[in-house]
Amino acid sequence: NDPIHIVGGGLAGSEAAWQLAECGVPVILHEMRGRRGTDAHKTDDLAELVCSNSFRSDDAETNAVGVLHAEMRLAGSLIMRCADAHQVPAGGALAVDREGFAQAVTAALAAHPLVTVVREEIGTLPPAEWGSTIIATGPLTAERLAEAIRAETGADALAFFDAIAPIVHFDTIDMNTAWFQSRYDKVGPGGTGKDYINCPMDREQYEAFVAALVAGDKTEFREWEGTPYFDGCLPIEVMAERGPETLRHGPMKPMGLTNAHNPTVKAYAVVQLRQDNALGTLYNMVGFQTKLKYADQVRVFRTIPGLENAEFARLGGLHRNTYLNSPTLLDGTLRLKQRPSLRFAGQITGCEGYVESASVGLMAGRFAAAEARGQVVAPPPQTTAMGALLAHITGGHLASDEEGGKRSFQPMNVNFGLFPPVEVPREEGKRLRGKEKTIAKKRAMARRALADFSAWLGAEPDRLPVAAE
Ligand code: FAD
Repeated sequence: NDPIHIVGGGLAGSEAAWQLAECGVPVILHEMRGRRGTDAHKTDDLAELVCSNSFRSDDAETNAVGVLHAEMRLAGSLIMRCADAHQVPAGGALAVDREGFAQAVTAALAAHPLVTVVREEIGTLPPAEWGSTIIATGPLTAERLAEAIRAETGADALAFFDAIAPIVHFDTIDMNTAWFQSRYDKVGPGGTGKDYINCPMDREQYEAFVAALVAGDKTEFREWEGTPYFDGCLPIEVMAERGPETLRHGPMKPMGLTNAHNPTVKAYAVVQLRQDNALGTLYNMVGFQTKLKYADQVRVFRTIPGLENAEFARLGGLHRNTYLNSPTLLDGTLRLKQRPSLRFAGQITGCEGYVESASVGLMAGRFAAAEARGQVVAPPPQTTAMGALLAHITGGHLASDEEGGKRSFQPMNVNFGLFPPVEVPREEGKRLRGKEKTIAKKRAMARRALADFSAWLGAEPDRLPVAAE
């Protein structure tokens, strides 16, 4: 068997290497740390956690990331095995002793007879003689390789900067206050003239909102994030600081909109939300990228009429992040369409978070192993946490918006909004109301995910050993 090369020994690269090796496929893992560091990593260990030591909720019954943990354990994940072995108390969360965890991953890979770790920076696209290669160089991909990827994929295809607007669960928006309408009822490609959700503000509400944005608690950029703001993605609070009217003439302009609930009263300002996934379960707040701290985002954004009870699938942020416009570039098994010998994994594909990155590494490793043996693996179904994440990355969401086809693909943590809806059993559904009903839906999604994931594992031609724990 020819070895498969993996560039980057972080969360994704380490998991991919393990999955391949456990399938009997030799791996050469190229990791630059040991020769050259990044602005966030502090050690030379593989799978170092750069910030928090938490893998978030371990609740596999009502929490999407908990379901992802469970699926990874079923698939024999090295990252989960080492996390479980180095757990520290953290309530319902899975938190780890970061050094013990990363050292265990490093030791397990070093001890595997089919894994060779080479400490070197890869500065160009992999040479043709490498054959099948996985690139898992993460959000802080070294510049030379990032430039090479950009030259291959095109200037717009690789982002270096993540300006994130908050994303809201549709079923928590009050549609008795908000209404569907595109500005000037414009019908774009595939649109209906009612593609946006609009939340109206009167003058008093708008002025209070602008004051709250200006006064809100902001996170500062760290040194390594010294990226200048790009035109067109200024943080909302920076726009608010430029003057009380700036937002009303920018993303909050009320023009071309008529309040369906109150047509005679013109809104003074409007917050628009745009559909974020094909399922229509998530909406992003248009132009609301922000550096406000999370608590202040929730507090201030819930003052917007219609969003009083909004639940956020993700909050806004602004930081350095190298990631591909994957929905247009990658195929359903994470290969670069224009150069299928290259596969991508981890945060560079546009997922977000340690667990998500590792899980995309897991899938990439399995897909590459199957390919090496001349087999084809069907991707996990979208009803599973891994399948939902994969669908988000490879195109199960909207790739562009109606206003000029601007890129709208943004990295995302796994969340139930990415799963297809599920019906709770009729009797249960009748009995339950509000929060209880939401929890029942989450339970049903989690149960379906784990059943479907187990079936998918079983359906694989050469099933990997399942974790003993
Ligand atoms: P990484 O784990 O970063 O691994 C990439 C590896 O590739 C690194 O080891 C790097 O040295 C190597 N590499 C890069 N370029 C080259 C090259 N040219 N040649 C060879 N090797 C190369 N997620 C959370 O869930 N919780 C958090 O608290 C959190 N905090 C974060 C803080 C920061 C500062 C950043 C940048 C991200 C954070 N993330 C967090 C997001 C993300 O989950 C992590 O970055 C995660 O480590 C991504 O996994 P990965 O395998 O894709 O990349």
